[in-house]
Amino acid sequence: MRVLITGGAGFIGSHMVDRLIAEWHQVVAMDNLVTGTIDNIQQHRSNPNFEFIFHDVSNHIHVPGKLDWVLHFASPASPMDYLQLPIQTLKVGAMGTHNALGLSIAKRAKFLLTSTSEVYGDPLIHPQHEEYYGNVNPIGPRGVYDEAKRYAEALAMAYHNGHGLDVRIVRIFNTFGPRNRINDGRVVPTFINQALRGEPLTVFGEGQQTRSFQYIDDLIEGIRRLMDVQFNKPVNIGNTTEMTILEFARLVLRLTGSKSQIVYRPLLQDDPRTRRPDITRAMEVLGWEPRVPVEEGLKKTIDWYRTRS
Ligand code: UDP
Repeated sequence: MRVLITGGAGFIGSHMVDRLIAEWHQVVAMDNLVTGTIDNIQQHRSNPNFEFIFHDVSNHIHVPGKLDWVLHFASPASPMDYLQLPIQTLKVGAMGTHNALGLSIAKRAKFLLTSTSEVYGDPLIHPQHEEYYGNVNPIGPRGVYDEAKRYAEALAMAYHNGHGLDVRIVRIFNTFGPRNRINDGRVVPTFINQALRGEPLTVFGEGQQTRSFQYIDDLIEGIRRLMDVQFNKPVNIGNTTEMTILEFARLVLRLTGSKSQIVYRPLLQDDPRTRRPDITRAMEVLGWEPRVPVEEGLKKTIDWYRTRS
C-alpha cells in the first residue's frame, strides 16, 4: 500500500510511520514541523519507501500518485501547544481535516481521523464510553482543540454518510513514550524531566484530578487493528489504569529514584477532573486491550529521556 500520514513527524504520527515502514508499505509523511520534528523520522530518510513532504495541511493538499490510506494525525495536541497556537489548532482540525477528506475522496483512499478523549471535555460520566456526548466549554481555552476535533468527527461522518467514504475515527486517550517532546508541557515529559534534573515536580491544583496513561505501542497497535476492520464509528483507545496526578508524580519520583520535591501550582481552566476510557468497544470490535503496564512503559520512557537530558 501507499499511505499518507499527516503529522508524520509528530510524536504519534512518526510511530505510525515506523509501523507501516516495518510492514513494507510506502509511506508519505507530511508535516509543517510546528510541533513535530525531522529527528522523529530521520531513520527513514534514505529508505526508498519513505517520502517527506513539508506542508501545512490547513492549505490544499497535493500528493501525486495513488494513495490507499490517508491517516490524519496532524494537530497540536498538548494543552500548552494549543493554547499558544489556538487559531492553527482550529484550522488544522477544521480545514486540515476537510482537505484530508477531500484528498481521500479523490484518491479513493480509506481515511482515519485521530480524535481525542478531549471530545468528552470535563466528563460527567465515568468512565467515558463512545456514546457519551461530552461536556465541553466551547469558548474556554481548551475549546480550540476540543471543538476542532468534535467538528472533525462531524465532518468525517458527513463524508462517510454523504459520499460513502470509508472512515475510521479513533479517540486517543493520554499517551506517552519516546519522542513526546520534552518541553511540550504535558505531564509525563514534564514530570520525568523535572525528576531527572532534580527540579520540583509542578503538580497543578491539589493533584486530585485523574488521568489514565497509555504507552505509545499499545495505541499504535489499536489504530493498526482499526484500519483492518469495517467499523466507522468512534473507538476509544486508552489504558484503563487511572491515577491522580499526585499519585503519578510519586510514581515518577519512585521510578527515577529522584529526590525532587513536589510543589503545587494553580490548576488550569477547564482542566478535566477525571478521565478513564471505557474500552469495551475496542475489545469487542478490535480484540484489543492495552498490553504494556504503565510502570513498564514509564521505565522505557524514562530511559529514553535519560539519553537525551
Ligand atoms: N499537570 C500537572 N503539572 C504539569 C502539567 C500537567 O499537574 O506540569 C496536570 C494537568 O493539570 C492535567 C494532567 O496533569 O490535570 C494532564 O495534563 P496534560 O497536559 O498531560 O494533558 P491533558 O490530559 O490535560 O490533555
